Amino acid sequence: MTFTHQPADVPAELVALTRRLGDPAADLVVLAEGNTSVRLPGDRFAVKASGSRMDLAEAGDFVVGDLPELVEVLERGGTDQETLSRLLSAVPVRERTEAIRHRASIETLVHVVALAAGADWVAHTHPTAIVGLLAVSEARELWEAPLFPDEAVVLGEPVWVPYAAPGIALGAGVHAAVRERLDRDGAPPRLVLLGNHGIVALGASAAEVETITTMAVKAARVRAVALGAGTPAPLGIDHARELAGRPDEAARRTLLGGTRT
Ligand SMILES: [Zn+2]
Repeated sequence: MTFTHQPADVPAELVALTRRLGDPAADLVVLAEGNTSVRLPGDRFAVKASGSRMDLAEAGDFVVGDLPELVEVLERGGTDQETLSRLLSAVPVRERTEAIRHRASIETLVHVVALAAGADWVAHTHPTAIVGLLAVSEARELWEAPLFPDEAVVLGEPVWVPYAAPGIALGAGVHAAVRERLDRDGAPPRLVLLGNHGIVALGASAAEVETITTMAVKAARVRAVALGAGTPAPLGIDHARELAGRPDEAARRTLLGGTRT
């Protein structure tokens, strides 16, 4: 069994983070868009259920899953969407009639990749200011280098993932891109940019993923202003990496890439 519905195991801090990110005033998500997750003891994690709203989140709107089982789905490849949907269905601990109401988000594999790469907290949102700049043909180039120092410091070097349909295709795309970054740096990225879709913030705390999300929105607004005023002049990539502090510590404990340390 991969998922269960057990609200008592969902940290209050996850619910609070989800509600803050879902605040309509922040314009990060609308309706049931977006999802959050956190690592739990025993190789488990809590992730938002499909169809629930972030701004109204309660502990009962999350399901608890088994991380290694889903990492295995990604590593093995070849899983079809139908099988994934079955895997994401949660079995309630008490009321079995609620089984249909609680299914892990279709974007759960994105969280699995981030958690397996070493993040403890993950927030996936669709900020209007960012999605607009991920939905132009120059998107990848636009985000290739930071435009201002705080962007480099907080966001590091984001990973780019071209558009893929939410579900197994998106999970596989994020898996490949994050693995490549892990192989290069020995540490996960802080931000993943999903073409024509949104962002994924990876952090060690709820505050960190919120900070990364906020700075990513600012970086998008700065780009929009720069594009309106002239041609953006990004910081040099070497300078940006210096600001971000290239990870040179030993590879973090990770499930991805088979480098358990
Ligand atoms: Zn999404």
